[in-house]
Amino acid sequence: MTGSRYDVLFEPVQIGPVVTPNRFFQVPHCNGMGYARPAAHAEMRGVKAEGGWGVVCTEEVEFHWANDISPFIEGRLIDDADIPAHALMVERVHAHGALAGCELVHSHASENLEVRNAPMAVVGMPVPGHAPVQTREMTLRDIDRLRRWHRQAVQRAIRAGYDLVYVYAGHALTTLQAFLSRRFNTRQDGYGGSLERRARLLREVLEDTIEVVDGRIAVACRLCVDELQDHDGLERAEIEELLGIVGELPDLWDFHVGDWDFDSLSSRFGDEGGQESYVRGLGALTTKPVVGVGRFTSADTMVRMVRQGVLDLIGAARPSIADPFLPNKIRAGRWEDIRECIGCNICVTSDYTATSLRCTQNPTIGEEWRRGWHPERIRPKRSDRKVLVVGAGPAGLEAATALGQRGYQVILAEQAPRQLGGRVALEARLPGLAAWIRVVDYRLAQLRRLRNVEIARGSAVTAEEILGYDFDHIAVATGARWRDDLVGRESARPLPLDERLEVLTPDDLMGGSLPAGEQVVVYDDDHFYMGGVLADLLAQRGRKVILVTPAAAVSAWTENTMEQPRIHRRLVEAGVEIVLSRRVLRAAEDHLELQCVLTERVQTVAVDALVPVTARLPNDRLLAELAVHDGGPLAEAIGDASAPGTIASAVWDGHRYAEELEDPAAADADLPPYRRERVALPPRAAASGG
Ligand code: ADP
Ligand code: SF4
Repeated sequence: MTGSRYDVLFEPVQIGPVVTPNRFFQVPHCNGMGYARPAAHAEMRGVKAEGGWGVVCTEEVEFHWANDISPFIEGRLIDDADIPAHALMVERVHAHGALAGCELVHSHASENLEVRNAPMAVVGMPVPGHAPVQTREMTLRDIDRLRRWHRQAVQRAIRAGYDLVYVYAGHALTTLQAFLSRRFNTRQDGYGGSLERRARLLREVLEDTIEVVDGRIAVACRLCVDELQDHDGLERAEIEELLGIVGELPDLWDFHVGDWDFDSLSSRFGDEGGQESYVRGLGALTTKPVVGVGRFTSADTMVRMVRQGVLDLIGAARPSIADPFLPNKIRAGRWEDIRECIGCNICVTSDYTATSLRCTQNPTIGEEWRRGWHPERIRPKRSDRKVLVVGAGPAGLEAATALGQRGYQVILAEQAPRQLGGRVALEARLPGLAAWIRVVDYRLAQLRRLRNVEIARGSAVTAEEILGYDFDHIAVATGARWRDDLVGRESARPLPLDERLEVLTPDDLMGGSLPAGEQVVVYDDDHFYMGGVLADLLAQRGRKVILVTPAAAVSAWTENTMEQPRIHRRLVEAGVEIVLSRRVLRAAEDHLELQCVLTERVQTVAVDALVPVTARLPNDRLLAELAVHDGGPLAEAIGDASAPGTIASAVWDGHRYAEELEDPAAADADLPPYRRERVALPPRAAASGG
């Protein structure tokens, strides 16, 4: 689309010696693949370049062996043997005309769990987190060596073919930021004290990098422009002063705000463009281009960022994961095809769990190399067989969409008379989760265009009905329901529950019911978001809420989406009473017996209603009924109907079903239906250890 208001987004930008093809800049982001799965990593980055991202960067890349952030799986460029893995990524990115960037890191958060040498840092302190590890304070010799190692790493990055190399001082994760910030730097020597002294190492490393690259590739600096520490850390005034010192050194500034949990704020706690007020105006203090992020999915917001001089390049991590083809779709005006990031931070869990990248919206991310999945292309059907998909939740919607794109004749039957989307349609109405409806919106937009997919609303199908038609395959995507008997992690069997006590499941609350009584216990033995969200909802509806959980933290698993402290704070602010480390033993008419999971002491708590958030039961009756008919169509449960999980797993499973339909290789589960990357054994002589 030329002559459009979005053309500005497709202008090239000069970054030192290199020129970007456009303003779309995939900033560095972790992905759980890194050094352990380099082929998968390279392919994932390559697909983003194919989708139009003008610059595609690595995740943070460790460059010195004694600065080890295991068990997290990031990039590594520690010696020359690491270069080929990077060269592979560069090759995949260059194949589509994009620039490749490498984010070198000397981590402030390394525990050195693998290498075991004492980690060094700006000062000797316990490492961030709770590990029983302290750092030793870096000596002047250490500082010299760090500069040398960084120079060596820059040389390796050049040899790998990168177009841009980062000097990284952000996210409270790096030694360079730790030197810069009063929050960490209490040194008494020439590297501590005034801002100028604290900035000395950053300045020196920038100068070193500029000298090494010698105009061959660009130098970017990623900088935290506000640590959000109430005057005890980096803030606007210091950053303005800092830009007066080093503002002209790098070829590009990459500004962000806060620690990673703020930079990648979930949609439950922040909107698109949330960093604008912090970054606005900083670009005027340097002649160099500026990139920044804000979970940008709206092309209008992007244009405004550029036109108003807030940013020169539109940075994105999550929007590029949810839709690797976002730039190309904007360019072509294919608005309905954009798979907008929902801000759920399932992608972040990949890093925390050291597993390949995943995304609620984009089931193909992380699967590009190992399973050959692509976000925009899917292999054509193998036959003219007909498929019935039962249930239009995330699994059914994705399966029907992907099967339709393969060319199969599909009927998507949904019992609900109007609303499609299953659990997503319900959950998106809960406090803070509105953006999640995009999972449904995107797929409905695709389905509208697929003439070979028919949607039958208000169709509660039965096995008998199905057998009356000539379907060859049935995907049973009928979802799951929350249990009301308190079975869950803490109890394999139903607990004594007085039937006079009002019990409402999450499904009841999402269906619009509210407890009649005033005092409500939400019993969270699920530990992801649902318990905390429902406690919030009930508090907003004027109930006196007690959240009881056997875990030691509220919504414990949301540590992995970086939301846990915010959820706890929100509940405290909403007046919710929080009772940790307690399991429910029995529920009487007007009180619960709670037991401490540590001491086994029992206490009672008065209650008018109970909301158990424990486990779910698959809606698998239809599957069971179909299974008893020999010679009928091939039926398979997918998504929550198979095993209840996250929305991301339901979408992924729907996609898997569609990809694997009639694939003989997938039918044989004896061997993995995907390619694996193996650790290479050392040569025999070296392996003997002698
Ligand atoms: P998932 O997360 O696996 O996609 P959901 O619970 O979100 O599961 O969605 C399941 C959908 O299936 C719901 O919209 C529900 O109304 C629908 N459904 C359940 N049973 C039937 C049935 N027998 N016929 C048609 N639709 C059904
Ligand atoms: Fe966005 Fe969620 Fe996908 Fe992450 S997992 S990119 S937050 S939709």
